[in-house]
Amino acid sequence: MALTRFHNIVGGREVAAKDGGWFASANPFDGRDWAELPHGGAADAAAAVEAAHAAFTGGDWPKLTATQRGKLLRRLADLIERDAEKLAALEVRDNGKLYAEMLGQVRYIPEWFHYFGGLADKIEGAVLPTDKPQMFSYTRREPLGVVVAITPWNSPLLLLAWKLAPALAAGCTVVIKPSEFTSASTLEFARLFAEAGFPAGVVNTVTGFGGEVGPTLVEHPLVAKIAFTGGDATGAHIYQQAAKHIKHVTLELGGKSPNIIFADANLDDAAKGAISGIFAASGQTCIAGSRVLVQRSVYDAVVDRIVAIAQTAKLGDPMDAATQVGPITTMQQRDKVLSYIDIARADGARCVLGGKRPDDAALGRGWFVEPTIFADVHNDMRIAREEVFGPVLSIIPFDDDDDAVRIANDSIYGLAAGVWTSSIARAITMSDRLRAGTVWVNTYRAVSFMAPFGGYKKSGIGRESGQHAIVEYLQTKCVWINLADDVPNPFVMR
Ligand code: NAD
Repeated sequence: MALTRFHNIVGGREVAAKDGGWFASANPFDGRDWAELPHGGAADAAAAVEAAHAAFTGGDWPKLTATQRGKLLRRLADLIERDAEKLAALEVRDNGKLYAEMLGQVRYIPEWFHYFGGLADKIEGAVLPTDKPQMFSYTRREPLGVVVAITPWNSPLLLLAWKLAPALAAGCTVVIKPSEFTSASTLEFARLFAEAGFPAGVVNTVTGFGGEVGPTLVEHPLVAKIAFTGGDATGAHIYQQAAKHIKHVTLELGGKSPNIIFADANLDDAAKGAISGIFAASGQTCIAGSRVLVQRSVYDAVVDRIVAIAQTAKLGDPMDAATQVGPITTMQQRDKVLSYIDIARADGARCVLGGKRPDDAALGRGWFVEPTIFADVHNDMRIAREEVFGPVLSIIPFDDDDDAVRIANDSIYGLAAGVWTSSIARAITMSDRLRAGTVWVNTYRAVSFMAPFGGYKKSGIGRESGQHAIVEYLQTKCVWINLADDVPNPFVMR
């Protein structure tokens, strides 16, 4: 079968890699290669950064008013809406997540560009009161410069939009480095910028392997900031490289989020919440509620309810509307998930559902893992401490509120948490005590362009979405104007 070929966009032109040739992207549902991407290297990364820098310092982009910038973002939003089905289908072919999930995400992405497009001309400085006579002083909020946006494979376009919309609204220019496993939708999406009227070079892409293009992107002297979403080991490496050159970073990393079910909760709703926290997207979300904590008095009843729902989950073709659980995005990740199942068994966790690849011959070529549930998990076990990034749930008992907080917070991560209770007092108290960037009460996995998102502890630095996100792409300049006619003594500070 002929592979579909995609090109990078650098300085407004569609380009192949300078000398790396092409690499293939495989469809997780059938394991077959379906697309070819430019195999970028250091020279391609440098060219993309130089194009972004040229667009930041010259040409039409810096001349646009903030209102005009905002209009471009909103025009882009309309084009995404127009092409949502095509973009979502590309994402599914690359990462194997359900079409229903990816279409929902892509249809939601325009909101980020409308919201931040509206914010573009509300970036305001201030006139400062001054303690110095005959001095006028004010601040300006200026764009940081060239931003490198590095994205993972699980939700390529959504997580890209979280970076692009505030970066462009702030007036930055961008180089996008998508995951080597899921680059196709990003390259197709990048073509929309020219159609929306963005000047060439404002948005550029470079595809390839992280270790090959990453170092040039992160350490290039013309790059001001790295906005990264991915694993915490990669994030820590990028943070170290960026520190050597004093670059700004935001890091959105992994999680081991607790989803806590109290005895006073509606247990049917809570069981559904536990399912949506871990089996949606086959567990390949940073916010996966991979540790379900259940109050001991209702422990067995809740385990039974969760197993009852999970065992009916329909595995299948992610393009099929009836499918509820799709494959894992890469074969390596499938094998990693299976190895964690072995580790959990060896550590003494009790497997009450799944625990292997499905027997169904129709799924034989795909990278599937059955929805898997471990009961009687202790929070010291590796299955409760390390991010699996797959459809594997650990269910841990707890005694009371203090015990739940102790277990929930006993993690290197702090991305999100869920609380299921009918007590408003408990909902608020628990939300205060949980060390996580997002807390959901009687719901799970809600995100919005208006709501700040990010991690405590090893789950990251900085916030995406919400008004504050634009600050992550701005820096403040203070201007002093002397109103006096005379020049004061030059040998003392004013
Ligand atoms: P990853 O860290 O392996 O890769 C992420 C990106 O970094 C890819 O584009 C990769 O090519 C690039 N990269 C790798 N090495 C690099 C280097 N040396 N320099 C520069 N770039 C480099 O992560 P992944 O496996 O693609 O994604 C899964 C991880 O992402 C999980 O840990 C998950 O929790 C995390 N994630 C976090 C969020 C969040 O918002 N907090 C959202 C989704 C995923």
